[in-house]
Formats: sequence, structure tokens, C-alpha cells
Amino acid sequence: MRLTILTSILVLSLAAIAQDKPADYPPAAEPPENAGEKPAEKAAEPPAGALESVVIGEGEKTVRFTVDTAQAPDLAGWTKEQLIPVIKEWYPKIVEMLPGKDFKAPGSFSIVFDNKYEGVAATMGTRVVCNPAWYRTELKREALGSVVHELVHVVQQYGGRRGVPVWITEGLADYIRWYLYEPQSKGCEIPAHAAGRVKHDMSYRISANFLNWVIAHHEKDLLREMNAALREGRYSPALWTERTKKDLETLGADWKKFLEGKKA
Ligand SMILES: [Zn+2]
Repeated sequence: MRLTILTSILVLSLAAIAQDKPADYPPAAEPPENAGEKPAEKAAEPPAGALESVVIGEGEKTVRFTVDTAQAPDLAGWTKEQLIPVIKEWYPKIVEMLPGKDFKAPGSFSIVFDNKYEGVAATMGTRVVCNPAWYRTELKREALGSVVHELVHVVQQYGGRRGVPVWITEGLADYIRWYLYEPQSKGCEIPAHAAGRVKHDMSYRISANFLNWVIAHHEKDLLREMNAALREGRYSPALWTERTKKDLETLGADWKKFLEGKKA
């Protein structure tokens, strides 16, 4: 299963599809005790799955999105009460965070809970697919954050541009998710004893931790600058040196020293 997912990630990322799995590191907290348990008795009236259509903002800033739970009616209540409010708040925030020259973020997108999809979630252009089986077990843990991660991909729109390193694409998405949307989760912490085993380009949470360190210590506008360069097809490793006066390898090594220094 894991291998299949990893293989799909490699294959699909070549096709400019961001297909996500939960990051391997650090390990997620234990699920709450009753996670995944089915209610003892079937509810008399199971909630109907639905296609929710939502409009936010107005004028040029109008954004329309749909959330489709037709295949997963049991997720309809959660979608309405928790997911949609998070999207309404965070999509416009992410759009503000990731501007670009002559760029207008997608004014519409869709989120589909699809039983045939076996990964966790993936974004293809402006279509996000989510695996209902995974979401059911994560409603109290990673479910909302993982959709925020996918919303970043909707705004990134790096497409199939050459030279866009996947670790930065995913690192930025996890940076926004873990450090800005849910900092209280501390989902990217790397303990000093693990510093020897990580590298800045290991993607997802590890790269998010690295990006957070660069932002805190070298370049507060990194998120904006890096995003614009990637979207406009002008990213090159030299950008790190331009923005921080240190090349990427040196930054990576300094970051590891910083992680180890926490040992004290
Ligand atoms: Zn992703």
C-alpha cells in the first residue's frame, strides 16, 4: 500500500499533479481512542450526501467552490459544519499570501470525496479529490489541515513548469498548513536527536521546517518570493543565494546545526 502510494507520487508528480500522503515524519500523534469506531446502531436517517455550492467575496474577488459528498454521505455534516467554514476563511488568506505578477488565483475550484481514490488527497489544477476512508479516521486530527494543504496547491498553479522542485512545492504547502493554519499542532517539530537523519529537501513537513527556519533567520519574504519565482518559471537554486547570501547547501547545513543545537 505504502509503496503503491509512493510510486504514484513519483509518477504523478511528473504529471504536475500534487498527490499527497500524510508526511512520514514526525509521526502523528495517536488517534483519539474512539477514532474510527462506528456508532453501535445505525442512525434512522443517514445524512444525505450533497453537493454544496459556496460563494465567497464579491466583485473581482468572488470565489465559488463546491464540496461533493455524494459518495460519502456520512461526511456531509462535517463538511458543512467544519470544512466549509475553514475553506471560506483560508482560501482568501492563501491567495493573499501567494500573489504574483499578472496572476489571478483561481476563482473557482471543487473538492470531491471520491471512493475510488486511494491516496489521501490530490489536486489536479482546480480539482481536489479526497479519499473518504482516510478522512473518516482523521476528522479530529489531520482532516481539515490536509484540505488547507490542498488549497495551497490550488493557488500555487505551478503547473508542469520545468525546474520546479517538488520538495519546495510540498514544503510551502505544509509550511502554510502547519506553521500558519495550525501552529498549535506543532506538526513539523524535529527533535535534536533526529537532526542527523533529515535533509532540507526531504519534502513535506521536513522541508516546511527548513523553510520556516530560513524565513525566521534569513528572509522574511521567502514565501512570497519563492512562490512568485516558481509560478513564473524563474526559479533556480541561485535564488537562495540572492535572497539569503548563502547557497542552498550551506543553508541546509546551518539549519541542521540549528536543529542539533536544541539538544543543550
Ligand atoms: Zn501536496
